[in-house]
Amino acid sequence: MREEGQRMNRVYNFSAGPAQLPVEVLQQAADEMLDYGGTGTSVMEMSHRSAAFTQIIEDAEADLRELIGIPEGYSVLFLQGGASIQFSNIPLNFAKPKHGVADYIVMGQWSKKAFSEGKRLITANKIATSEDDNFTHVPDLSDLQVTPDADYVYICENETVHGLKIWNLPDTKGKDLIADLSSCFLSEPIDASRYGMFYAGAQKNIGPAGVVVAVIRDDLIPTEDIEGVPLLCQYKTEADGKSLYNTPPCYGIYICGLVFKYLKSLGGLEVVKELNEAKAKLLYDAIDDSRLFNGTAAKQDRSIMNVPFVTGNPDFDARFVKEATAAGLINLKGHRSVGGLRASIYNAMPLEGVQALVEFMDRFEKENA
Ligand SMILES: *Cc1c(COP(=O)(O)O)cnc(C)c1O
Repeated sequence: MREEGQRMNRVYNFSAGPAQLPVEVLQQAADEMLDYGGTGTSVMEMSHRSAAFTQIIEDAEADLRELIGIPEGYSVLFLQGGASIQFSNIPLNFAKPKHGVADYIVMGQWSKKAFSEGKRLITANKIATSEDDNFTHVPDLSDLQVTPDADYVYICENETVHGLKIWNLPDTKGKDLIADLSSCFLSEPIDASRYGMFYAGAQKNIGPAGVVVAVIRDDLIPTEDIEGVPLLCQYKTEADGKSLYNTPPCYGIYICGLVFKYLKSLGGLEVVKELNEAKAKLLYDAIDDSRLFNGTAAKQDRSIMNVPFVTGNPDFDARFVKEATAAGLINLKGHRSVGGLRASIYNAMPLEGVQALVEFMDRFEKENA
């Protein structure tokens, strides 16, 4: 009964991040909080070199490799500093310091930030962008004009703020593709071999903020010390130390590991993708059928994780957010940079949560039409 009661107090959280986690995972973490696996300590209190934590991080890596199907020759690293520190580490590790060159596709707030940071550190070229259209669509990527001496091509595959998804990876003309997957990580199967590196901040789809999962093709990891770059910003340091060069975010990695096991128990990423598509279809159909709400992203580029929409009237938007919150549907306000509304419906958002949102939208429209 207590368990039922606890569930009933939970709201549907549509935050873009930190986001909702599966109740099953939170419950397991709660059950194991005081005594993890008979150790008499919580995961927060144990040595990162203990047998118990070694098992946790090794299991997390193995489960992730299995879920995605990561081929031989790729390293899996658990890093910290958030996704944003990768905006710096990527140019510092993969392009020659100061003189390196890299190409960026800029199609929303996160790729724009990565590009800005790239420009501070190397010669970063913007080779495709939809900024002139306020990032309402993915730019044309059909014939990328890659720079001959570029060391990589950078994308953000799912733009969290603008709700855009690159559904077909571009032909990068032989250049290594580096991708920020933070807000679509493990939402669908991917072909890992298409990437030189992909990475994700945990707080969107897999766990607590701070942890970053990075998967890097081994031959890209520099083998020599990079002069002038802090050791902890060099992927070599983390790869050599198996993510244990210093104390990693142990508890966060443990939760990520529980999420990986949970996704496996659902049947893997094909199943996860079907669930996500069903949720997204329900919400987008409601938006498209509505006379009040409008989606802001071009249909062919719509993300199935982040769904931005507007009423066109800031007062209605504000009232919608307020009344939705009172109804237990929280964090529906659009990002401060774009306004309007946004529902993030990551893996852990159940179909019932989207159903509740769609019913609420319908009521709100009738009352305000
Ligand atoms: C949230 C987000 C980030 C930033 O993550 P931090 O952990 O806050 O640095 C970067 N990229 C994308 C796509 C995101 O959604």
